[in-house]
Amino acid sequence: MLQETAEGLYCPGGEFFIDPWGSVPRAVITHAHGDHARAGSVSYLCVESCAPLLRRRFGVEATIETRRYGETVQLGSIRVSFHPAGHVLGSAQIRIEGPGGVWVVSGDYKRAPDPTCPAFEPIQCDTFVTESTFGLPIFHWDATADIIAELLGWWEDNRAAGRASLLFCYTLGKAQRILAELAAVTDRRVLVHGAMISMIEAYRGAGVRMLETSPLIELTRGSTCAGELILAPLLARGTPWMRRLGDFSDAFASGTMRVRGARRQRNIDRGLVLSDHADWPALLQTIRDVGASRVLATHGHPEPFARYLASQGIESGVIRTAWEGEAATQGD
Ligand SMILES: [Zn+2]
Ligand SMILES: [Zn+2]
Repeated sequence: MLQETAEGLYCPGGEFFIDPWGSVPRAVITHAHGDHARAGSVSYLCVESCAPLLRRRFGVEATIETRRYGETVQLGSIRVSFHPAGHVLGSAQIRIEGPGGVWVVSGDYKRAPDPTCPAFEPIQCDTFVTESTFGLPIFHWDATADIIAELLGWWEDNRAAGRASLLFCYTLGKAQRILAELAAVTDRRVLVHGAMISMIEAYRGAGVRMLETSPLIELTRGSTCAGELILAPLLARGTPWMRRLGDFSDAFASGTMRVRGARRQRNIDRGLVLSDHADWPALLQTIRDVGASRVLATHGHPEPFARYLASQGIESGVIRTAWEGEAATQGD
């Protein structure tokens, strides 16, 4: 059903690629993160709610065709449909059905509830291509409410001390999830780095309810950031933009913060273990839920994850990507 090629995963029966890193005639896209959706293909097919995010990344001239979740499109001998992945707005698992049976390519996914996107739906299949970004037993997430309470407590402590709270997080997915989760516990406005604005607007356009935001650079001259929460991408670290902050404490919201030493290595005050990916128990639960007779792992830690599955009597394998190491993953 699917072959590994130099451009990425290819489906010969339907003549399309899934999340290709090369430029191809037809790309079927799981979601808008940069390690899954690359510019340069002739045409794109994605779920409806993904299209506005792709447009913001690729520009208005890109050819983007959409389907609703659960709707089927026939490509050659293959029936293709998109199903919620619970990862970020517009994220989808891709189900393909043809003479080779039913395959589901998960893209990135999580099982924890997320107010910005519909929950992951387990889809029965013969072969399940699962992400394994956090496919090691050390990765285990706490309840989101506990992490949001920790974030709010950190912000409160910094306010009391007259400091700004600078929270690094990914511009697509994590930032909006944080703003949506915080909207349930506070109504304060949040300042954002300019690189955050486009995707926040896209989420608002999709009707996602989030805290009010305003760009840090629009703060009136002379006013202070003391007590404010500011969201920024890690790329903003060490840039002149930081001068505006005054005294601040910084934090990074990422599943990678679970690794011992990762926070100190980055020299960040606070690590918030908040991930948009499935943790180890959720990966294993999902593999039980979809009932696949074969599981192929990709992204992150595919080899140890596939070895573990094999040790449990599950036929497994690895699909390699062009992405290696830390830079490979967005929205972790
Ligand atoms: Zn992703
Ligand atoms: Zn990914």
